[in-house]
Amino acid sequence: MESDSARGLLLQITESVRWYVESLQEGGVTELPRAATPSQEETEKSEQGKASSAPRFSDSPIPRFSPSSPRPQPPAAPSGALTIATQAGDLFLSPTVQTVQTLEELRAEIGDCRRCKLCQGRTKIVFGVGNPRAELVFVGEGPGRDEDLKGEPFVGRAGQLLTEIITKGMKMRREDVYIANVVKCRPPENRNPESDEIAACEPFLVKQLDLIKPRIIVALGTFAAQTLLKSKTPISRLRGVWHTYQGIKLMPTLHPAYLLRNPNDKRLVWQDIQAVLREMGRL
Ligand code: URA
Repeated sequence: MESDSARGLLLQITESVRWYVESLQEGGVTELPRAATPSQEETEKSEQGKASSAPRFSDSPIPRFSPSSPRPQPPAAPSGALTIATQAGDLFLSPTVQTVQTLEELRAEIGDCRRCKLCQGRTKIVFGVGNPRAELVFVGEGPGRDEDLKGEPFVGRAGQLLTEIITKGMKMRREDVYIANVVKCRPPENRNPESDEIAACEPFLVKQLDLIKPRIIVALGTFAAQTLLKSKTPISRLRGVWHTYQGIKLMPTLHPAYLLRNPNDKRLVWQDIQAVLREMGRL
């Protein structure tokens, strides 16, 4: 039994490492990042650049590094050493990120982040907003122009639609839920976040979810769904059915920015949201 779980953990670790290395390679990175590295070389130019108003969706493969708890406290890594922790879910989380206890501490740990090239064009880091004990968390892709200026997720046009979904559709307040993104800094010209940027930022989303411990996650769009589910399946096939992220029920749905361009598909999101409401006992 014990050897089975050890083998399972080893497989999990191997799989996480494989995804991580592949994602770095796709991003043009040739060496593993080191803990306490303040910035990452710009290694990749956008092939996916889009007009500034264009919503961002792609089906690029995205790695996931997931939390696990309870977790042992790792020994402090020597400066510059690779951070390899003892639990598969803790891989690539720096020791300080692993040990933070609150969202405020996590935000402080992010600091004036220079871990990826998105720092070059951002105005504000968009960490997340809402109830730190929320039962329901929405995860989007990354900040747009309005969010970058305000430092708050989903405050632009797509954000207004999300707010309507929450307030009018779900009869909840925005403050009741928590809203975060896969990447915390705005990609230039609203292009898709690249795999190295997601890899650099994802540990913070993982830790946010680990701290909030919601009962339900709604993944908004391709990037959120694929990142959290470690899947390459298109959102059109992921949406509308329950998945599991670290024991948490996860409902992928279409991104509000997509809905602005495809209002006929609002009925699909409403179906997904109704499933969430049923699961929450609110319908
Ligand atoms: N789109 C997102 O995915 N996140 C935001 O915060 C805003 C728009």
